Amino acid sequence: TKLVYTFGNGQAEGRARDHDVLGGKGANLAEMCSLGLPVPPGFTIVADACSAYYTLGRRIDAGLKDEIRRGLETIEKATGRQFGAKDRPLLLSVRSGARISMPGMMDTVLNLGLNDETVQALGHDAGDARFAWDSYRRFIQMYADVVMGLDHEIFEEILEDQKARLGHELETELTASDWQHVVSLYKELIEEELGEEFPQDPEEQLWGAIGAVFASWMSARAVTYRQLHNIPGGWGTAVNVQAMVFGNLGNASATGVAFTRNPSTGERSLYGEFLVNAQGEDVVAGIRTPQSITEEGRINSGSDRPSLEKLMPEAFEELTRICTELEAHYRDMQDIEFTIERGKLWMLQTRSGKRSTKAAMKIAVDMVDEKLITEEQAVLRIEPSTLDQLLHPTIDPRVDRQVIGTGLPASPGAATGAIVFTAEEAVEADEEGRKVILLRVETSPEDIHGMHAAEGILTTRGGMTSHAAVVARGMGVPCVVGAGTMRIDLRNERLIGVGVTLKKGDIITIDGSAGQVLKGEVPMIQPELSGDFGRIMGWADRLRRMTVRTNADTPADARAARAFGAEGIGLCRTEHMFFEGERIHVMREMILAEDEKGRRAALDKLLPMQRLDFTGLFSVMHGLPVTIRLLDPPLHEFLPKTEEEVVDVAAAMGMEAAALRQRVDALHEFNPMLGHRGCRLAISHPEIVEMQARAIFEAAIAAAQETGAAVVPEIMVPLVGLRSELDYVKERIDAVAGEVMTEAGMKIDYLVGTMIELPRAALRAHKIAEAAEFFSFGTNDLTQTTFGMSRDDASAFIPTYQRKGIIEHDPFISLDFDGVGELISIAAERGRRTRNDMKLGICGEHGGDPASIHFCETIGLDYVSCSPFRVPIARLAAAQAVI
Ligand code: PEP
Ligand code: MG
Repeated sequence: TKLVYTFGNGQAEGRARDHDVLGGKGANLAEMCSLGLPVPPGFTIVADACSAYYTLGRRIDAGLKDEIRRGLETIEKATGRQFGAKDRPLLLSVRSGARISMPGMMDTVLNLGLNDETVQALGHDAGDARFAWDSYRRFIQMYADVVMGLDHEIFEEILEDQKARLGHELETELTASDWQHVVSLYKELIEEELGEEFPQDPEEQLWGAIGAVFASWMSARAVTYRQLHNIPGGWGTAVNVQAMVFGNLGNASATGVAFTRNPSTGERSLYGEFLVNAQGEDVVAGIRTPQSITEEGRINSGSDRPSLEKLMPEAFEELTRICTELEAHYRDMQDIEFTIERGKLWMLQTRSGKRSTKAAMKIAVDMVDEKLITEEQAVLRIEPSTLDQLLHPTIDPRVDRQVIGTGLPASPGAATGAIVFTAEEAVEADEEGRKVILLRVETSPEDIHGMHAAEGILTTRGGMTSHAAVVARGMGVPCVVGAGTMRIDLRNERLIGVGVTLKKGDIITIDGSAGQVLKGEVPMIQPELSGDFGRIMGWADRLRRMTVRTNADTPADARAARAFGAEGIGLCRTEHMFFEGERIHVMREMILAEDEKGRRAALDKLLPMQRLDFTGLFSVMHGLPVTIRLLDPPLHEFLPKTEEEVVDVAAAMGMEAAALRQRVDALHEFNPMLGHRGCRLAISHPEIVEMQARAIFEAAIAAAQETGAAVVPEIMVPLVGLRSELDYVKERIDAVAGEVMTEAGMKIDYLVGTMIELPRAALRAHKIAEAAEFFSFGTNDLTQTTFGMSRDDASAFIPTYQRKGIIEHDPFISLDFDGVGELISIAAERGRRTRNDMKLGICGEHGGDPASIHFCETIGLDYVSCSPFRVPIARLAAAQAVI
């Protein structure tokens, strides 16, 4: 196979589509060359050669060397220069270029081919000895760093010493002989440090640089970067070798970087920076402050240093023309690098540019209007998960983050406030207009009012489906959970983080999108739902097949979700309706009742509350489908835990503390998530179902009468494993339906369905479908029970699993297609075999995860349901899944 692809003078052996072989940079250099753009001639060594380099024990094979020599000849022909010649020497740049760009991760060597003789020739040739010696010292410094492993800082020291000795402030003040002296000092230093001479043979230099670029693929920082970005280590990097063009050849020379549109606002104007008389590394290194390319940019930045537009109008003109051509060709915003050598423009790189979500929206919409891309392509250009950035305030990307703890990104957005340790304090602060972050080891229903009052929530324990995470997402409150690197010392009201201890009242910021805890207040960017957002979402809605519902427990949540475009409620967790205010006491009374009589007394009090809740939901949803799930409380979430709590609750309930303690002990479960929950509760205590069914039907009739819209409640039975469980519960529901309709003298339609959240239910779906009119996949529990991993405890070991490569993704965040996914496919297929028009949906947290939504599309689910703030993400992801 071919290992070296050449390009130059309008011809290239590669193409943009060859990026897997040539890496991103090499493929686009070839493409630009074919387009006739000014690209310094060169060649690309394929990425596969990188693997071969490692297989050979970090050596460049003789066959590859031969191909490289041939590549070199084509550069020599194109430039009319000879590598290593003592007259008009060819100098080279050697750059890495992987399939996906890994900015700043790998190495580059410039000015290669210089030695004690060619430096003279270069100076003579350019008529500028100072330039030649400056280039030589740059080369030695870079080569010694990248290839020979000498820290570049020791060279900086020499340079600083020389400047001090000569009384110069700026490098530009050094003369040719000053640089010549610096070069001799550099070479001495290398001999001293390494006991070897700086290599004078250009070919030896070339092998060294190519080997170093290959080797940089396995550098610690590159390996870490790949882990963070899920880039396979087997890809390797390609190497690009090109004729040097010099941005440091005097004041008519320059080097710069630019975006074809503004990467933070998306505005359609060239945006970038450059340095006069400099090489590319100077821009990156930040030694000198770059100048703005356009006049507009210069004015906006308030700078008085001239723009490229003013300084080199011809080169600027050409650059602008090329940017337009590149955009039209790639049909996307480009990020480019260029050099101007004595007035002549050279293109060194182009790639599709990174941008903020806001810019991505604007660019996609503008490009549709400019007829560069289709609406489908525009929809595909937006990464759904990044919509978070638009819906919540986010941390200004320009600030340095002082991270004092990390956990799971449970609910997106950022929030700043003073830390408090109890829900009461949060409520108090809220009433006084103070902003707080509520800190808990984990949250429970009693914390709800505090969670509402707080700007953000932070817990040190629990996973993505823990109470705190689920509730915060529903409320749209930023939340970080399971911050295991931090410790809460409740007794002393302190938070112990990485290198800091904070006390009550200290200010922190949490980033619920990144799972980070930061010290102090941090500048934020406010959300902005612009017209571009609306247009993209409109296109997405037209394209998608699945509908998008929301998980909402209150009319307020439902209203928020409708504003985000929800088309129904896929899950109303009725136990959440009892978290608030006085209700929790009645709920506890019910749970703690010793007998049916006690339970019925409590249920009688709960009935009007539930009826009111449901009427509210039905009227907000105005005829859209509403799925109400029967009570599914993991009991431990509602019971007092500590002795202190027992005393408080006993007082509130008018009970003896000892009696309450006894009752709590009697109800204690070793494994509450697998205990007396879901339909098991309904079967033990049918009066609970009867109360809920009555509330639902009475509310549906009232809402139908009031709004005139037909209300078809969908009643959902949780945690079913056996068809007989569903039969038992359904019989109670049907009986109550009959009673209520007779009493009201009005008939309404309703559906009874089930959640599929246990493997047995998935396997027996054909039987369960005989009784169930719809299925909704509860993938939180289905993941928990398929893996046998507690959803509340998994955060303790999942990160380790990920780090050790045992699993790639947290299955509680992104659906495990192979295992849990197969159970879902089986259940969907078997359920539909029995009942072919059966509605199928998903309401676990995965319903808002783009990759999981893709899976739902492939197996033909009818809808996904997710928390209100994820609704736009789901709409977009569902559209992308069909394109
Ligand atoms: C589920 O298990 O996926 C589900 C939606 O129910 P819950 O999270 O309330 O158990
Ligand atoms: Mg569940």
